[in-house]
Amino acid sequence: MKFLVTAGPTREFIDPVRYLSNRSSGRMGYAVASAALSRGHDVVLVSGPVSISPPDGVAFVDVVSARDMLEAVASRLSECDVLVMCAAVADWRPKAFSGMKLKKRGMSPVLELEPNPDILTEMRPLKNGKIYIGFAAETNDMLAEARGKLERKGLDMIVANDVTKPGAGFEVETNIVTFITADGAEPLPLMSKADVATRIVAWAEKKVLKA
Ligand code: C5P
Repeated sequence: MKFLVTAGPTREFIDPVRYLSNRSSGRMGYAVASAALSRGHDVVLVSGPVSISPPDGVAFVDVVSARDMLEAVASRLSECDVLVMCAAVADWRPKAFSGMKLKKRGMSPVLELEPNPDILTEMRPLKNGKIYIGFAAETNDMLAEARGKLERKGLDMIVANDVTKPGAGFEVETNIVTFITADGAEPLPLMSKADVATRIVAWAEKKVLKA
């Protein structure tokens, strides 16, 4: 099988030195890429800026902004059987980009933003039998929020985690996730991101076999 995995944050530049971003370390997506490779699958890893190295053997595409990531995913989707969107895509970008560093004295204290495209939603019409897996990092009403995303984004599965729990979420090696599908929710115990990734890859393999 061929996996297309996204990972890490995106950066939305205000000027050459300032940007909007988020706390994603890329670890979960890189773990999914490694798990898929170790099962003998081909992997394209589209990654925002992170400080970890891509696993040997992936086709690596590094991107910066949400729009770069959308372009990278859109241009490679047709080759893939499974899309795993682990990336923490910035929802908004600055409306204007200044090619020169903005001077503090001349800056407005209000930053005008515009929405970024939702990559999964954009890819929805191209699904065509592929498996789509998303992630939902929540701080409240995790199950309801994640179920809403599963439906709105047209996913086969969403991997939800409550990022306020110790041992889950950003910048740690472990995660506490719930696999949510149209059939229900399967909560998993605290485990390493590598083990979560192995379970995700196994789930996708089973889904493809059944199809
Ligand atoms: O809506 P929310 O950002 O919580 O949804 C999370 C899921 O949607 C993740 O799988 C993420 O990679 C994906 N996403 C996306 N495009 C965006 C924002 C999120 O594909 N602009």
